[in-house]
Amino acid sequence: MALNRRDLMKVALAEVGVLTAFSPAMAASSTENPQATKASTDILIVGAGNAGIPAAIQAADLGAKVLLIDKNPFTGGMLNISGGHISGANAKMQIAKGIQDSPSLHYRDAIRMGRYKNNPELLKLAVENAAAMIDWLVEIGVEFTPESPFLEDDHEHYSAPRTYMGPEYARSLLKPLNAELEKRINNGRVTLQLNTTVTRLLQNDDGRIIGAVTRKETGQELPVMAKAVIMASGGYGASDILKNKHNPKIAASKVVCLPHATGDGIIMAEDIGAKLTNMDLFVSFPGAIDGTSGRLQHAPKHFTEGIWVNSQGERFVNEQTLNPDERERAFLEQADFGFFYLFDHHVRASNPGIIGWNHGRIEQEISRGVVHQANTIDELANKMGVKPSVLKATTARYNQSVLAGIDQDYGREKLQRTLSAPPFYAVPITGSILISHGGIAVNHLLQVIDGDSRSIEGLFAVGETIGSAQMMGNAVLSGMSVGPAITLGRLVARNAVRYTRGDPFLMAECGQENIEKNEISS
Ligand SMILES: Cc1cc2nc3c(=O)[nH]c(=O)nc-3n(C[C@H](O)[C@H](O)[C@H](O)COP(=O)(O)OP(=O)(O)OC[C@H]3O[C@@H](n4cnc5c(N)ncnc54)[C@H](O)[C@@H]3O)c2cc1C
Repeated sequence: MALNRRDLMKVALAEVGVLTAFSPAMAASSTENPQATKASTDILIVGAGNAGIPAAIQAADLGAKVLLIDKNPFTGGMLNISGGHISGANAKMQIAKGIQDSPSLHYRDAIRMGRYKNNPELLKLAVENAAAMIDWLVEIGVEFTPESPFLEDDHEHYSAPRTYMGPEYARSLLKPLNAELEKRINNGRVTLQLNTTVTRLLQNDDGRIIGAVTRKETGQELPVMAKAVIMASGGYGASDILKNKHNPKIAASKVVCLPHATGDGIIMAEDIGAKLTNMDLFVSFPGAIDGTSGRLQHAPKHFTEGIWVNSQGERFVNEQTLNPDERERAFLEQADFGFFYLFDHHVRASNPGIIGWNHGRIEQEISRGVVHQANTIDELANKMGVKPSVLKATTARYNQSVLAGIDQDYGREKLQRTLSAPPFYAVPITGSILISHGGIAVNHLLQVIDGDSRSIEGLFAVGETIGSAQMMGNAVLSGMSVGPAITLGRLVARNAVRYTRGDPFLMAECGQENIEKNEISS
């Protein structure tokens, strides 16, 4: 694909400004009474993001009175900067292209790639309803690129092309979703409050959730009574507190997600006894340059002209592997969680493959001390802080591999030139945080559960706040956060509305395919 994530970050962040200007108008219909001491609603949704907006639309369409609250001054949450890739089998666009696929194949791919750490029930729900979600997006006006569905290169390939992307990345999803939300605001079903933070959940004596406390920018606190609360408050990639507590190893990685991802929902849910799950899992992408303001440069296409060496001065992966997951995994295993991209004069003179870095930028970063430059490997090693003898052995072995035409250590195939022409360069690379894998534990109805796996009545959760590992396991799978946030956002709204009416739960009709029980429990 010609499009890359660095571009999307630029485009998308620019767009946040557009949204900021637009959204308060949407929220203007919200009734704000400064005298009010208590508000009430059928369903309170915490977070007007990727999962919260579809949940609000669905709940409103089922006749519920919805209060949608967001601490940001704009709607859309991470959709403002996300790649917006979604995946699903058997949507109309895929069938029209004659691509053979099925939800059960999607399920099997996901569970294998996720190293069997995914939540089988929730994954099944998401893949079986993914086609309906994609078709619905098309119905409300979402446009996808003509290449969609495709095999995405940024992540391990699925066994069929099933990833969709809009020409404006996630903004292609957000604009129609916002338009649909606005219709529900205009017909009085949804009240949207921006710049308002939900700070804690309210429980009655039986432990049932009966609302939450909200805080305005002014500091004014207001309880909101609700028959059900849906937590759709996103992940915790931007929370130093939660990362230091649960994933100290990745805490120093660059935060690429928006700053609202502070895990508020996770903290609030834990405070009232909810169980958390997968908090030990966290994937940080290799690809940010340490010490610069540059953003994510996602493997596999970048930094691959030279070699990657860790803080011990050793190679640790096939730099050019076609499976980015393999590189992410090798990166996560490095003790110091960072590495150097090493190349020589020849590579620098041709193209070191650092997007956005021309000759002048490299010079600038050398003079700033970010990029190390040296005339010998010994000198380079000293600048990098690694043992010269080890780095010399590493480069010598790599050079032997180039001369022999075979990389016996890591199986790298493109071995066109030895690293032998001074000066030598080392660029420090660190991890980037987009998404968090741990979150609030829920049952198959997306009800939050406690330490004994009993549902906490009145409280539901959806989206990244339940942790991306529920869908992705211990990996990052193409389109398996944005898509499931919409799919399960709509489903959780149905369950919450039924809950408020005392109806028995009934999940949405599943797809044609019936995933075998033994696959689910594997
Ligand atoms: C650069 C980037 C690229 C990505 N690309 C992809 C991709 O291509 N495909 C994919 O599947 N995933 C991708 N992801 C991940 C994906 O975008 C997110 O996981 C997903 O959008 C999260 O959706 P969500 O609704 O759970 O949370 P969000 O969209 O983050 O929404 C949460 C909302 O809750 C609000 N909120 C939080 N706390 C409170 C509170 N206390 N009170 C009130 N409101 C609160 C926030 O302000 C926010 O608006 C990407 C992420 C990043 C950062």
